[in-house]
Amino acid sequence: MNHTSVNRIFCLVGLFTLILLGTKNSLASGLFEFKAEVVKIEDLTHNVRRVGLRLKSSKGFTFTPGQYTFVRIPKSFVKKWNQQYKTSHGEVFRPYSFASSSSHLPLFDLIIKLARAPRGKDVPPGIASTFIHSHLKVGNQLELSAPTGDLYLKPDTGEPIIIVAGGSGAAPFVSLLQYFFEKDFDKNNEIYFFFGVRSKRDLFLHDQFVAWDQSKPKFHYIPGLSRPQPQDNWKGETGYIQLALDKHLKGPSGAHAYLAGPPIMIREVEKVLRRKGITKDRTYYDEIEAR
Ligand SMILES: Cc1cc2nc3c(=O)[nH]c(=O)nc-3n(C[C@H](O)[C@H](O)[C@H](O)COP(=O)(O)OP(=O)(O)OC[C@H]3O[C@@H](n4cnc5c(N)ncnc54)[C@H](O)[C@@H]3O)c2cc1C
Repeated sequence: MNHTSVNRIFCLVGLFTLILLGTKNSLASGLFEFKAEVVKIEDLTHNVRRVGLRLKSSKGFTFTPGQYTFVRIPKSFVKKWNQQYKTSHGEVFRPYSFASSSSHLPLFDLIIKLARAPRGKDVPPGIASTFIHSHLKVGNQLELSAPTGDLYLKPDTGEPIIIVAGGSGAAPFVSLLQYFFEKDFDKNNEIYFFFGVRSKRDLFLHDQFVAWDQSKPKFHYIPGLSRPQPQDNWKGETGYIQLALDKHLKGPSGAHAYLAGPPIMIREVEKVLRRKGITKDRTYYDEIEAR
């Protein structure tokens, strides 16, 4: 990934989406050339689920950790949705990041958060994530686009790696970290993984990250809760995740920073990074948000 291309990721998603939207249905259909069977569904939290998939044929399907695939929602579901909510969706597809190492292919995981309707608004919930949370079953088949996206960690630079994820933004880093550990890239790079969510019940894969923190000397896991609940009995970082970053990150630093989460988090985290001397050309991100 060269420095001029890395920050274009969101534009590229937008562009790809526009191209698909502007295309006749028949052509869009051709872009979902891969099929995968659901082999496992696990609830990681009250609103985040991990879907295990197996490609029907892995010919031509490769990804680098950090990339994503567009998942197509079945037409029959979209039709019923349009009737139920009086919406007028045509083709529905959404990008989801790979959440397992590419070495596991033809098996791979996606981690998908349910997009509920915003509080106080009389609008439908998220169509794709509702399909995945309420209708998808083991044995079903999903149609997928070829993997795409520019977010990947530079291996073995010898420089620290700062990862900041908000909510489902942690999904691509599950893939990246698994891959990094498989390749022993953590031997030469300190890795700091800041993971921000609202309260403890939203911290998915917490035990996995704690286990890595304990077993990998150069991996440091710093979760932060923006709204810890009394029952959380939380002794860790509180407030938005940029506060934890500001507290732990010594500057100036030669680190590379990788961010994935809502645009507001990216903006606030970038302010902290700049103050700590981590320049824009060392910052790579995916804006991941339910619109
Ligand atoms: C590069 C990239 C990677 C991503 N990776 C992941 C990932 O790994 N995991 C993940 O969970 N997500 C990921 N996302 C986000 C994902 O693509 C979807 O945006 C998300 O799942 C929501 O899609 P949806 O169809 O369920 O919601 P949508 O139907 O798109 O709705 C989004 C929100 O808008 C609300 N809404 C609906 N109608 C209206 C209206 N009329 N007015 C106002 N609001 C309305 C809905 O209630 C919902 O809250 C990624 C996004 C990008 C760009």
